[in-house]
Amino acid sequence: MDSQVVKSTVAFLQDNVTKIPGAQKIIDNKFVRENPVVAGVTAVAAGLLTAKTIAKIVRGTEKRYNFAAIPNMTYEEEIYDVACIGAGPSGSTLGYFLAREGRKVALLEKKKFPRDKFCGDAVATMAQDILREMGVMKELVDENLGHFAQNGGFVSPNGNSFIGNSAKEMARDAKYNRGAVIAVKRIYLDEKIAKAAKRMGAELHENTTVQEAKFDRSTGLWTIQCFGSEDNVPVTFRARCLVCADGSPSATARQLGYVNTEPNGVCSRAYVKNNTTFPYDGVVFYPKSLLPGYCAIIREARDELNYLAYIIPGGEAKNEDLHRLHHEYIEKDPFISKALGPNPEIERMKAAPLRLGGIEKSFDDHLIIIGDAAGFIDPLTGEGIQYAMESGKIGAQSLIKAFAEKDLSAQSLKRYQDAWMARFGHEFGVSMTMSLFLYRFPIVLDAAATLIGKRGSRFLAEWAAVMTGVEPKTWFLRPDVGPFILLEIFGECFRRVFNKKNTSIDNATSY
Ligand SMILES: Cc1cc2nc3c(=O)[nH]c(=O)nc-3n(C[C@H](O)[C@H](O)[C@H](O)COP(=O)(O)OP(=O)(O)OC[C@H]3O[C@@H](n4cnc5c(N)ncnc54)[C@H](O)[C@@H]3O)c2cc1C
Repeated sequence: MDSQVVKSTVAFLQDNVTKIPGAQKIIDNKFVRENPVVAGVTAVAAGLLTAKTIAKIVRGTEKRYNFAAIPNMTYEEEIYDVACIGAGPSGSTLGYFLAREGRKVALLEKKKFPRDKFCGDAVATMAQDILREMGVMKELVDENLGHFAQNGGFVSPNGNSFIGNSAKEMARDAKYNRGAVIAVKRIYLDEKIAKAAKRMGAELHENTTVQEAKFDRSTGLWTIQCFGSEDNVPVTFRARCLVCADGSPSATARQLGYVNTEPNGVCSRAYVKNNTTFPYDGVVFYPKSLLPGYCAIIREARDELNYLAYIIPGGEAKNEDLHRLHHEYIEKDPFISKALGPNPEIERMKAAPLRLGGIEKSFDDHLIIIGDAAGFIDPLTGEGIQYAMESGKIGAQSLIKAFAEKDLSAQSLKRYQDAWMARFGHEFGVSMTMSLFLYRFPIVLDAAATLIGKRGSRFLAEWAAVMTGVEPKTWFLRPDVGPFILLEIFGECFRRVFNKKNTSIDNATSY
């Protein structure tokens, strides 16, 4: 570097920088006076470093969509904090908890309540807790719209069965003092949850079908194009955050590129009236040809039954076999046909898809995906209502924090994914492995039924708690469980080889 240029630069700095507080002190410094070149180079390097850091911060801020910093952006009346596509259990729960914290929420629902949703209607413990918090459980019980399961059990692929009163056992233990399952028809349940969200202040727009959602990065706003489901009139909503809660087809998440697969399972439903042959509240049947899926009969309020057949991926039964299998089991399965009796008064089969096991990424800038749209159905049990409601609540909590921090970026909303993964996402992984294991080794279910038969209702209650997600599936590894199931497997093998009768289930209720 030309020393003349350096000297004139130093002289320029001396003339112009002395007004900066503290600058004169640096210039007067003995080292700086004696080594102007070293001091100059150091100053330039420090300057470059500072500029780079500032640029980084600015870039970071841009990326984080700090909407408070967007010029000319005010809280206009018509801009929602959150627009949620779908007002099923996931969307309405999210709407309830966001509205409770004063957030402006639009629930966009293509149907008009009361609307049916094909389902087994079995509402498990964690959903019951949220329903209590929302005040919905009281309404359901007061209006006699739900039926708490008292006695139930399962029939294994080989026909071993145990049916006991798990609710009685649970009531004795404060930890389980909730009842594993309450059956509530979705035509009632979903309307009650949506109305609770509305009462809390969420705007419920029924008959509103979302067609397209587009995000504008410059404003940090979503524009959601809808049309009236009945009158076809177009309506547009604008919101800072979009929530996809539109069920297992995941239409919006697929349109936006977050999901690129079809739902991976399917389930049928048929209500049965005036049945006199089934005296229980809930029984799960595991026909070999359906594994890892299963059939179930669940008692609803007012003595109606709900018959279901779940096709869960990984086995021989394919989604297209559902219609045939649903009817075949009613007519020919020795246990199911006996349970339903001759000529059951059963409605025409209805069916809907299942998306099981959770999607890989459920968040992005100004976006989260909840409930069935995010694949939150347990791959072992086919249950999804409680995960829909939990993800709605977790989603609302994550968004409330993000709004408080004025940061709706993907970095900020990752907390939603972390929270649901910790709460039930890892369990889904275990369930997936277990369901494939049971398909390969159905003898495990035969052995488990025998063990429950020996240990009684208390053990059945623990089994029910695991199957409904209250207890982790690591329960099977407990020293008082795993090794005993293993022993029963040896016993079962022995009986099969020597064609012996299983006397341990003689006292159990069997079909
Ligand atoms: C036959 C069957 C049996 C089942 N049995 C059980 C059971 O016994 N227990 C259990 O826990 N789970 C069960 N499940 C799973 C359970 O039904 C789901 O997990 C649950 O409904 C998920 O709730 P959700 O709010 O995420 O989605 P949904 O309940 O599917 O709600 C989605 C909502 O989005 C609306 N929507 C869709 N597209 C649009 C659009 N473009 N614009 C506006 N609105 C839109 C729909 O009208 C709907 O109201 C079963 C599923 C099936 C198919």
